[in-house]
Amino acid sequence: MSNLKQIDSTYVAGTYARFPVEIVSGKGSLVYDENGKRYIDMGSGIGVTAFGISDDEWVKAVTDQLNKVQHMSNLYYTQPCASLAELLCTRTGMKKVFFSNSGAESNECAIKVARKYAAEKKGPEYNTVITLKNSFHGRTLTTLAATGQDHFHELFQPLTPGFVHAPANDFEALKVLAEAHKTAGILLECVQGEGGVIALDPAYVKAVADYAKENDIILMIDEVQTGNGRTGELYAYMNFGITPDVVSTAKGLGGGLPLGATLLGEKVENVLAPGDHGSTFGGNPVACAGAVNLISRIDEKLLAEVKEKSDYIFNTLKNCKGIKGVSGMGLMIGIETERPASDVIKDCMAAGVLCLSAKTKVRLLPALNIPMDVLKEAIEILKQACAKEA
Ligand SMILES: *Cc1c(COP(=O)(O)O)cnc(C)c1O
Repeated sequence: MSNLKQIDSTYVAGTYARFPVEIVSGKGSLVYDENGKRYIDMGSGIGVTAFGISDDEWVKAVTDQLNKVQHMSNLYYTQPCASLAELLCTRTGMKKVFFSNSGAESNECAIKVARKYAAEKKGPEYNTVITLKNSFHGRTLTTLAATGQDHFHELFQPLTPGFVHAPANDFEALKVLAEAHKTAGILLECVQGEGGVIALDPAYVKAVADYAKENDIILMIDEVQTGNGRTGELYAYMNFGITPDVVSTAKGLGGGLPLGATLLGEKVENVLAPGDHGSTFGGNPVACAGAVNLISRIDEKLLAEVKEKSDYIFNTLKNCKGIKGVSGMGLMIGIETERPASDVIKDCMAAGVLCLSAKTKVRLLPALNIPMDVLKEAIEILKQACAKEA
């Protein structure tokens, strides 16, 4: 480990503050470090390993495809890409899918679609995209511009122009911005993840969706973190009774392989024409074969279990010593702690539970199929870490 740490710090770009642990193996919601120490994984690789580590069915789907053909480029047809697109459209009512490799890219595509639609329909000056303050949409220069947190922007100017940020849950403020600019689209997370696991007010989301529809503004929902069963519905917008024009997703979709998808609704299904957009790896058959398996298994039964486990976490942690509040939706949970979140996370790790943070909170994104007894064990350890005297 000390050798690994040294090689890593010598040769890997210093963009990550890693925990001093090497994970060498795992199964389901359990992972093991280089000393064989067992941890309960309450982070799922930041909401990526939706069915846990090395899930048998997913591994089989991926390796079966790997043994057939691993990549052919988008110059040819491959079955998994078409099957996944069909499955996603059938399950959502969206019409077409563009595949990429990450959350940021899925948002890039969404933004290009909104701008092209508006340019053709209203004129190229209609290019402003409204996003929310405290949002997170990715690390490329365009998705950073979309991200409504100044501290991400400071040293990377100039960012892509045409983005303005509205305070969340203030419909009048959004309307003022939409009227002050020639607006192409609105991009939001139904539950702000990196911003602190904060669900938007349903009445606000509904008002924004109605307004976008009335004014022919493209409504894009960033489901990179909230998507693929995470909130107890296949996509989080389904909790809000709205129909977006565009849905971007990634993280849990690939289950651990890089895969992003931008789902296009009726209004924009034909906006992209040959040459408008592309991705060498996008729609990779191995990643798509794995995703077909995962999306097929995110059924009513699994979603009901996600909601049950969510209720269990909320009910167990609310009013506990050292816990000021619990926020989020489904198995996307933020815990405001009296002790600094980083101290709680450190104690949890020592006691064998891996947690994430989001702003000042402890964040939990366990696998959707985490067994109840494993979940209970982790929550008990977390509870004790929160209750510890500072
Ligand atoms: C993680 C995340 C992204 C960025 O995804 P990458 O795969 O890291 O590019 C974008 N939007 C949201 C809401 C996210 O949580």
